[in-house]
Amino acid sequence: KRFNLPHITDVFGDAVPIPSTFCLKMRSPVSDVFPGVYPSDEEWHGYINNNDRVLLKVINYSSPTSAGAECIDPNCTWVEQWVHRAGPREKIYFKPEEVKAAIVTCGGLCPGLNDVIRQIVITLEIYGVKKIVGIPFGYRGFSDKELTEMPLSRKVVQNIHLSGGSLLGVSRGGPGIGEIVDSLQERGIDMLFVLGGNGTHAGANAIHNECRKRRLKVAVVGVPKTIDNDILLMDKTFGFDTAVEEAQRAINSAYIEAHSAYHGVGVVKLMGRSSGFIAMHAALASGQIDVCLVPEVPFQLHGPHGVLRHLKYLIETKGSAVVCVAEGAGQNLLQKTNATDASGNIVLSDIGVYIQQEMKKYFKELSTPVDVKYIDPTYMIRACRANASDGILCTVLGQNAVHGAFAGYSGITVGICNTHYVYLPIPEVISHPRILDPNSRMWHRCLTSTGQPDFI
Ligand code: ATP
Ligand code: MG
Repeated sequence: KRFNLPHITDVFGDAVPIPSTFCLKMRSPVSDVFPGVYPSDEEWHGYINNNDRVLLKVINYSSPTSAGAECIDPNCTWVEQWVHRAGPREKIYFKPEEVKAAIVTCGGLCPGLNDVIRQIVITLEIYGVKKIVGIPFGYRGFSDKELTEMPLSRKVVQNIHLSGGSLLGVSRGGPGIGEIVDSLQERGIDMLFVLGGNGTHAGANAIHNECRKRRLKVAVVGVPKTIDNDILLMDKTFGFDTAVEEAQRAINSAYIEAHSAYHGVGVVKLMGRSSGFIAMHAALASGQIDVCLVPEVPFQLHGPHGVLRHLKYLIETKGSAVVCVAEGAGQNLLQKTNATDASGNIVLSDIGVYIQQEMKKYFKELSTPVDVKYIDPTYMIRACRANASDGILCTVLGQNAVHGAFAGYSGITVGICNTHYVYLPIPEVISHPRILDPNSRMWHRCLTSTGQPDFI
């Protein structure tokens, strides 16, 4: 059976579908609709044809899927998904010397932001773009009159990947979509590169729609930034690899602390609001975790099958234990904060602190002394510089974002799917977060590695 991905949209939003042998009704980029495009200056002729597709996945659902794989149609066992292949096109829609391109980074920090900014600037310059600017401090930079746009060039960005953070700064909240598009018009921006998570992409999609409504020839291209690796369909997002590597260091510290103390327990809280990929991968990589708790798998702290009972067993048998918990895990056990951040995201209650407190109470009642050390390395991890594999991923994503904009696509985001680099329509990837499948082999491999039982 075949699955049709919704159309990828061009800068006009009303292009003609290409008759396709794949039964796909994809929209063509604007260059097919409006002739008179410009030949690309690229000397290398490895152009990607606009009809090129990547087979996303073929999955036989009769057996358990890998983590995060989803059944699109419960009635079929074989599903094919095709997506647009990313890369440079022979015909480009914009005339490079007339283009003004802008880059904005929103949401929280993630390793690799500077790598992506750098690569977008470098690639734009190679196309011949002269006017490249950075919008400071996320979407806020479009409305705050005190913030002026930052001129960008290869010289400015040459070494920015050597440190973490974002050269442009980030923020949450900010102006409405109308105000952002007014600002785009005032500034004469033709290409907007948006680096951010689900919220930022919802914003980017709304900006794209508003530009279509106003018939503005602006290409809005996203680069998904989620350290949690929770974007649908993508193999991985930048920053995740680095986060897992850094999380291992925190786990190792917790292990040494726990191991060196009498009845020591280390608790490490890791990122993962709705998905436990960082916790699971860090547990698998470190080999030092006894209990891994993720949002997707419910657990009890108390009772005969609770986490605390198991920790007691570990203290008695091993003398120490290390727990890693994703920030979104066990939220049902906690009182809701009812607070939201500037972007409207719910502020989660602190599961790490709660586990630490309950553990102290539990062992006090048993008159068993335990030495609990709690580590929250979140901000240290987010601010790290990207590691080698993320550095490469960022480079390719940044280049492909520019190729996508020059091809005339808009309302798209770039990603790596099934080891190929692709363009995806934004709404398709942000409808909900990708979560790990508790029935997947990877989660079971994690359980085998930690040796933990079910806590229900
Ligand atoms: P992170 O993964 O770090 O949370 P994020 O992109 O989800 O990244 P948010 O703070 O939620 O971070 O959102 C970033 C920006 O996107 C904010 O300026 C916010 O105002 C805007 N935004 C969030 N949700 C929407 C939405 N549904 N429509 C339009 N704009 C949005
Ligand atoms: Mg978010």
